[in-house]
Amino acid sequence: MAKQNWATNINFHDAQTLHPKSIDELAEVVSNSEKIRARGSAHCFNTIADTRHTAVILDAMPSELEIHPETKTATINAGMNYAVVSEFLHARGWALHNLASLPHISIGGAVATGSHGSGIKNGALHTAIKSVNLMGPDGTIRTLTRGVDSQFYASVVALGLPGIATSFEVDIQPTFEIFQTVYGNMPVKTFGENIVEVLSGAYNVSYFTTWAGEKVGDVWFKSKTPTPDTYFGTPARTEKAHPIFGVDPTASTEQFGVAGPWHLRLPHFRIDANPSAGNELQSEFFVPSERAAEAFAAVEKISHNFGEKLLVTEIRSIAADDHWMSPANGRETVCIHFTWKNDYEVPYLVSLIEDALLPFGFRAHLGKVFNIDGDYLRTVYPKFDDFRDYVRTCDPTGKFQNEFTSALLEL
Ligand SMILES: Cc1cc2nc3c(=O)[nH]c(=O)nc-3n(C[C@H](O)[C@H](O)[C@H](O)COP(=O)(O)OP(=O)(O)OC[C@H]3O[C@@H](n4cnc5c(N)ncnc54)[C@H](O)[C@@H]3O)c2cc1C
Repeated sequence: MAKQNWATNINFHDAQTLHPKSIDELAEVVSNSEKIRARGSAHCFNTIADTRHTAVILDAMPSELEIHPETKTATINAGMNYAVVSEFLHARGWALHNLASLPHISIGGAVATGSHGSGIKNGALHTAIKSVNLMGPDGTIRTLTRGVDSQFYASVVALGLPGIATSFEVDIQPTFEIFQTVYGNMPVKTFGENIVEVLSGAYNVSYFTTWAGEKVGDVWFKSKTPTPDTYFGTPARTEKAHPIFGVDPTASTEQFGVAGPWHLRLPHFRIDANPSAGNELQSEFFVPSERAAEAFAAVEKISHNFGEKLLVTEIRSIAADDHWMSPANGRETVCIHFTWKNDYEVPYLVSLIEDALLPFGFRAHLGKVFNIDGDYLRTVYPKFDDFRDYVRTCDPTGKFQNEFTSALLEL
């Protein structure tokens, strides 16, 4: 049976798939391969993690999880997933600053595409990385550290191109509790007129809507303090919610304002459950927060096209950061996300959204479904050409590239 990504919309074409058990084994494979591509937990929705040559997955490497209380950092293997790392940290009194909607993704794969959670003051997941150990094409490892190496900001959100991340040192903080409440049926109009305010009302806030019918949506409110009974006039739901309306909420994390550890509340989906819908596609677009209201209105204007192809839209926020290929590079960001049915019309619907968001200098989640090309990316990522030059320097023969990255970066 063909190897596939999590959503099963992509068949991988690996000539061989390897799970090295040590750094030495990985180094030997990398140095002896003409072409090789790292893969994490295969949760991307496009061919970014595909290869026609060797795919290497770091899930069999010996666990390296070490806490350094004096520097408030932890060393973790890039192949581990957030569920394992979070449980390890929490059990020892520590936490990461934020998580994505699901904890099942690998650290290396998540930060390579700039994955994020929500929170107007929360950087995307890669902003917790203090240093990265990167294996180059000859199998040697170099360490790049934040504030020390100028190329650090090109080496984490790096689409697997300058090298294979083997481990990271990440910022940690004392463990904390989150109270999660879902407020039901906030009008799209109320949200659209108060986007940044609604997203700023707690540590981590999301808004979900289908744009259909009564034009209302749910606010997922993840707070460090007890949650209010209503939010912007919207009452707390008394029945458990799932991000996709009408889906059995068993897979959702605990709600009703019940306090719990950060890693069991910040994701929408429980560690022990299958997240989201399964047979789906996702796309996500990023706009500067000061243009969020206009961008949201532009999407609302075309939303009648989505029909039953759209399962749900989610709006989140990310603090600005310095990583060259980050969706939040240099700008506080509002994210407009779409979970779609797995349908052939999705690229067309995505092109409508891209056209609508063009005036706002949108960026796209490069691990999801999008249509834009390198010429467009160059206009919205100030360091796009610097990143391309950096990749060429690190990997002159293109060992780590695949068809997706060669086309996107014109490598
Ligand atoms: C149900 C669901 C919910 C999601 N929710 C969110 C969300 O809340 N926020 C968000 O931003 N995204 C979200 N995503 C998208 C997801 O976070 C990204 O697709 C992420 O990149 C997946 O990580 P992965 O380990 O599966 O990466 P893969 O798909 O396996 O690989 C992605 C990229 O990472 C590179 N890579 C992998 N490992 C390494 C390594 N060790 N060194 C160098 N490069 C490496 C690969 O080469 C590839 O370019 C979601 C996806 C799904 C399926």
